[in-house]
Amino acid sequence: MLRGLLLLLSRQSWLRHWLETSPAAGRVTSRFVAGSTLERELAVCQRLNNDGILATLDHLGENVTSVQEAQRSRDAYLAALDAIPRLGLRATISVKLTQLGLDLSRDECRANVEQLAGRAKSVGSAIEVDMEASQYAERTLDLVAHVHAVHGSTRAVVQAYLYRSAHDIEELCRQSIPVRLCKGAYQEPSDVAFPAKRDVDANYVKLMTRLLDAGANPALATHDEKILDRALAHVREQKISPDRFEFQMLYGVRRDLQRRVVDAGYRLRLYVPYGNAWYPYFMRRLAERPANVLFLIRNLLRS
Ligand SMILES: Cc1cc2nc3c(=O)[nH]c(=O)nc-3n(C[C@H](O)[C@H](O)[C@H](O)COP(=O)(O)OP(=O)(O)OC[C@H]3O[C@@H](n4cnc5c(N)ncnc54)[C@H](O)[C@@H]3O)c2cc1C
Repeated sequence: MLRGLLLLLSRQSWLRHWLETSPAAGRVTSRFVAGSTLERELAVCQRLNNDGILATLDHLGENVTSVQEAQRSRDAYLAALDAIPRLGLRATISVKLTQLGLDLSRDECRANVEQLAGRAKSVGSAIEVDMEASQYAERTLDLVAHVHAVHGSTRAVVQAYLYRSAHDIEELCRQSIPVRLCKGAYQEPSDVAFPAKRDVDANYVKLMTRLLDAGANPALATHDEKILDRALAHVREQKISPDRFEFQMLYGVRRDLQRRVVDAGYRLRLYVPYGNAWYPYFMRRLAERPANVLFLIRNLLRS
């Protein structure tokens, strides 16, 4: 119930405005967000690379309401991509299509994504297209397939809570499109997504196994230690080489598990957000673990 409430609050603009402009904002966000500037983001990614961890840069933002705003997001990502070879970073970028104008114009959005994918390829990086609420799933996967066919260097995201995901995984494997598998972070109705967490977890394991066996460079995005152990057992049984897949986790979440993965010799990429539009991202992190709400309240009370 608390998860539903937090996800509902994640869409409330009054609360967003109050929190994003609160004097405590920096303290509240520092756990999950690298900082407000690209400079700060790059410093964090550099440090991660030095620790043997790959990064994916997320310039925070979603559901923009003007074409100009979408273009500003694209330009922020172009600046990030230009910095990657300059600093010798091992990093990709993660984008949301509603941040690049999907709600406004499919053509405008596609042009923005194509520009980013082209630039990513030219600097030896790649673009990962986050999956948002289920109403965007079809359009997102169509656009990823198109951009991957033209430029390569594009990864799709599949959410294990959606009933459609087994079918999507087969299609993506058939087209050799790399997939990031996650559980799913949005509030979805029971006619499109498994309502019970145990069913989501079971579906994750099923899809993960399929991706490890047949996927192109899959990324297993989870902090679920039991699932991670299942993945490692499968990899060992099937003698799958560690360079054929990667684990992904969120900046600030389960640092102990992150270290364990790296120390065991597996590839790990951290999803590292930066920028000022942190509110919806942050609220989804609270919804995943209601104990995080105490952390928020403590920091707000200190202001
Ligand atoms: C790299 C990456 C990219 C992602 N991209 C997307 C995307 O494009 N679309 C999308 O819908 N979702 C995305 N997600 C979010 C994902 O769908 C889940 O909501 C989130 O990862 C929590 O699920 P879990 O697999 O960690 O398992 P859970 O069962 O939720 O958590 C397992 C354990 O991890 C720890 N944990 C999990 N979340 C938190 C948290 N916020 N704070 C503290 N501890 C926590 C807890 O110890 C928990 O017991 C992404 C996640 C990752 C790691």
